[in-house]
Amino acid sequence: MPISLLRVYRILLEHYGPQGWWPVARHAGEPGFDKNGYHPNIWRIPKTEEDRWEILTGAILTQNTSWKNVELALVALRAEGISAASDVLSLTESKLASLIRPSGYYNQKAKRLRSFAAWLNARPNPADPPARKELLSLVGIGPETADSMLLYAWNQPVFVVDLYTIRLLTRLSIVSTEEIPMQPIRRYEHVQKSILSRLSRSPVSSQERLRLYTEMHALIVRHAKEHCAARPKCAQCPLGRYCPSQSPSP
Ligand code: SF4
Repeated sequence: MPISLLRVYRILLEHYGPQGWWPVARHAGEPGFDKNGYHPNIWRIPKTEEDRWEILTGAILTQNTSWKNVELALVALRAEGISAASDVLSLTESKLASLIRPSGYYNQKAKRLRSFAAWLNARPNPADPPARKELLSLVGIGPETADSMLLYAWNQPVFVVDLYTIRLLTRLSIVSTEEIPMQPIRRYEHVQKSILSRLSRSPVSSQERLRLYTEMHALIVRHAKEHCAARPKCAQCPLGRYCPSQSPSP
């Protein structure tokens, strides 16, 4: 019998503590925020439309790059006074591309960011969460980006799946590798459905669910970086005793 997802969550939370996602760099160093904008004990984020815009921008810029590179691009945007969709639309695409250059694929991301800004700017109320389907119809917004936006920028209880999640859950035998489709979007939907059907059996309130999804994704990323990497470092892994894939100590 594989370990339950809730147990995984509790073990990782106890081991690593709250992760304070999604970081909002514009608040870095303020009370409750660390120097990179992580906020482990503040749940009501985004506080403002500028915060929401920064989270949405980060979700697009982080595609295929590390967060460190995204931070550099966000700093450059802030230095230029870009803190809303309308600010992005006032820039030429080449100027925007030069500002976000550190995030990589900057010409492609400038196109995506401008098209996303135009869509957001045309909405009557940017604080209203959009339908997932609507986000997925936008240029360059796939399931992981859409779900990250819904969860962290609009506080919707959506479970974000990434490669770290798939790797951890298959290693723990929570999700069976044989059942996972090869096609990326079908794989994403399959793993997400399988997680949700397991979690739906757990007695958690909708508020707890939001907190669980917000924290769980961040904890899985942390765990992948510290232990469950492509070449896992199983020694001292907090999930080791529950993991059928634990590699023997060197
Ligand atoms: S024991 Fe190893 S394979 Fe299993 S979760 Fe930990 S790091 Fe990953």
